[in-house]
Amino acid sequence: MKLVPSVQQLETEMTAWRRHLHANPELGFEEFETACFVADKLRSWGIETTEGVGRTGVVGTLRGRLGTGRSLGIRADMDALPMTEARPLPHASRIPGKMHGCGHDGHTTMLLGAASALARSPDFAGTVHFIFQPAEEGRGGAVAMLNEGLFERFPCDEVYALHNSERPLGEIAVHRGTVAAAADRFEIVVHGRGSHAAMPHLAINPLPSAARILLAIEALPGRLTDVHSPAIVTVGSLRAGEAFNTIPDTAFLTGTVRTFDHKVQMTLETAIRRIAKNEAEAFGASVDIRYESPFAPTINTPAQADAMIAIASEVMGPERLVVDPPPEMGSEDFCYMLQQRPGCYFLLGQADDSHQAAAHDTNYDFNDAILPIGASLWVRLVERRLSAGGAS
Ligand SMILES: [Zn+2]
Ligand SMILES: [Zn+2]
Repeated sequence: MKLVPSVQQLETEMTAWRRHLHANPELGFEEFETACFVADKLRSWGIETTEGVGRTGVVGTLRGRLGTGRSLGIRADMDALPMTEARPLPHASRIPGKMHGCGHDGHTTMLLGAASALARSPDFAGTVHFIFQPAEEGRGGAVAMLNEGLFERFPCDEVYALHNSERPLGEIAVHRGTVAAAADRFEIVVHGRGSHAAMPHLAINPLPSAARILLAIEALPGRLTDVHSPAIVTVGSLRAGEAFNTIPDTAFLTGTVRTFDHKVQMTLETAIRRIAKNEAEAFGASVDIRYESPFAPTINTPAQADAMIAIASEVMGPERLVVDPPPEMGSEDFCYMLQQRPGCYFLLGQADDSHQAAAHDTNYDFNDAILPIGASLWVRLVERRLSAGGAS
């Protein structure tokens, strides 16, 4: 392991920042204190800082001392999740119902660590933009930044991001193509007509329709879609009725669709709409469907993935590197930055004996042991991709 010495010196400080952020979580587009914390730190190191990009986003811009050249964007997410932390850690969330359950406190800290080290020794040619993004967890923070001209105001030839993962501590997984799935979400409301359960002929019972919709749509992957293109349809909630002897007016289903291929994604959306409508109408009910696609598939470009592979292998050694594992069924809104710029999103393992819980688990905590690893990867990425002789 060859960590960057100036980053290693920051380990105690970075751990304190990370725990401060962990104790004070803020949800998407409400990262006011977090953005202030980030902006104050960047300014204190003499980094040009722009706040309010995509509402609560922050961008720090640093130019290398080896001359002009290309430009890189490195993105960290800042938002927490609406859940309550289970464990009474000394740095546990102070706010019930909010928790850094996905490690974005750690991502923010690693990028701050890299910014601090690079500001002291900007041994590169060109420009790096440190992109602190709000609202990654389904609230559209990446798109908000892009819509406010992120890449016009802060031109980036390439973009990079990382996510902690339940892989062993220090293991790095890089995909040279698709990393993460598209995630759609749907809500189906079946409108019927209630009545006494003993007089069903007077009712239009929405429950059997909802049940048929559930069974039909969950069976779609591998039937209507090619079994070689992975897809998942999961109904996560089904609600209807309150009493054993009453037929309710309405039934609700909500769920998610995960895919890697846009065509498969479209096929499933069309089929879900068609099945819901037809199943309901077959018995005289009607449906309202809300279908949203907040996350596209996350797809790396090969040249930038190869660059990340070289840097990961330099910093962590080739034995810690996993190239092209199966893509994740989870999703990531960095996908929208990758739609506009070449780049790479990779995974950094953090699991050890005291960090077994996966992200979004109420027992989860980011592992501070990977702070110097992530920050070192970012420093070396900037130095190598913006070397004075051009990208290596
Ligand atoms: Zn998450
Ligand atoms: Zn996350």
